[in-house]
Amino acid sequence: MITKKKIARINPATLKKMGEIPVLSGNDVNRAVKRARTGLEEWSSVSLKDRARILNKFKKLIAKNRNEIIQIITDETGKTRTEATIEILDIVIHLKHLIKKGPRILSREKRSSGIFLWKKAYVTYQPHGVVGAITPWNYPLILSMEPVIQALMAGNAVVLKPSEFASGTALYLKKISLEAGIPDNAFIVITGDASTGNALVEGDTDMISFIGSTKIGQIIGEKCGRMIKPCLLELGGNDAMIIFSDAAFERAVNCAVTGVFHNSGQSCISIERILIEESIYEKFTASFKEKVNAMRAGNPDQDIDLGSISNEMQYKKFLHHISDAEKKGARITGGKIIKNASGYHVSPAIIENPKGSMIAVHEETFGPSVIIQKFKSEEEAVAIANNCEYGLGASVFTKDKKKASRVAGRLHAGNVAVNEALLFYLIGDLPLGGFKMSGNGKSHAKEGLLSYARQKSILEDRLGLKSELWWIPYSKTKVKLIDLLIKIWYG
Ligand code: ADP
Repeated sequence: MITKKKIARINPATLKKMGEIPVLSGNDVNRAVKRARTGLEEWSSVSLKDRARILNKFKKLIAKNRNEIIQIITDETGKTRTEATIEILDIVIHLKHLIKKGPRILSREKRSSGIFLWKKAYVTYQPHGVVGAITPWNYPLILSMEPVIQALMAGNAVVLKPSEFASGTALYLKKISLEAGIPDNAFIVITGDASTGNALVEGDTDMISFIGSTKIGQIIGEKCGRMIKPCLLELGGNDAMIIFSDAAFERAVNCAVTGVFHNSGQSCISIERILIEESIYEKFTASFKEKVNAMRAGNPDQDIDLGSISNEMQYKKFLHHISDAEKKGARITGGKIIKNASGYHVSPAIIENPKGSMIAVHEETFGPSVIIQKFKSEEEAVAIANNCEYGLGASVFTKDKKKASRVAGRLHAGNVAVNEALLFYLIGDLPLGGFKMSGNGKSHAKEGLLSYARQKSILEDRLGLKSELWWIPYSKTKVKLIDLLIKIWYG
């Protein structure tokens, strides 16, 4: 493929250039989609059992090549080795779940034919066709490969466009997929920027799976809406963690540190707001600050807790949110550029005394920062947590089980953790997806897999009668019989 434009690959922890990726044009994208159509023919006729067998081989190869994958992930994101290793753990968890449960979930499902006992009703699951997957940079392995493995299990062909900031991992995974036996045309990786992604949306794809910002999700959703093209959107979040005074204190503080600063806060499900019950506010804040200050920042090849921010755009956005909050009267600990650091490194930021006008309060900062504030009552905590346009995740800490379940039920979020944070992402059997501006539909589990399948209802006659009660020609006797049926069965 001939392309002119190229984007440099930069290691954000060192700012060293690692080569370039081509930006594929609209014509290149159309050619890739056409190729995927031939892949679709081949792959969709592979039996469910064989798809699972091939995906199992893919899982084993990911596990076998994990050190190479971890190296690529850390090079292109600046995240810690632990965080990159958790990406491997995540993808093998979801692959294992798909392999085990996928064939049954996608098999023909018998349904009741109701009062029409001489009919047979069932649902079959078929692939949408060619799925265009457009993914972000913050988790180059899991966010790129989760749409791919679910789409493939359901028999689709996939054209994946990973983020222009982190395409190396997906390109490496493509190589492994060939070794696993996934046909070359059934899984295609194309590189490029927004224009390449847009060509995939507007092109001859049958479904779009998008993971990224709400702003771009709205643009893509609108375009797909006009074409009535199925479109799965996993977007941003501004997740709250509610800590009641009766919470297990040490667990809550430690979990909050990870919930906020895992992946340098660059997770859609990161905790961005900690709400603390008034009576433990001072104690909690002091302990939280102490643990945050003890975090070791640096480069992935060192023993660290906090990697760099993953690209220049995000680095500038983070610094802008912090300076805006500072100007508008917030009390801020950290949030500074680390002097003499080799890349986009900042100290973790804690924002107190937030005000509604601050960008960090109503927008997702997507960096190593958190807003902390106090609440007086359960009512107030739920109101603050829900006062947000997003509804991705939330967590609640209390030893009172009834209160936990009550609050979990009232939170406007698709994923709620109780005395826990973030971990719902690694549970193969739990669907993941947001409410409100955080997206539509689900990924993971049965619900996620079925997002990648078209559901076809089939009704079969079993008796072969020459005529039925509701068929033409109509008669008064037929009306009477239908009327009797309504009275007896439903009256
Ligand atoms: P993030 O900054 O989290 O990566 P974005 O929403 O900016 O989030 O981008 C996510 C993905 O969407 C990237 O692969 C990017 O290239 C792609 N993208 C950006 N704009 C568009 C667009 N208008 N149409 C299709 N894809 C897009």
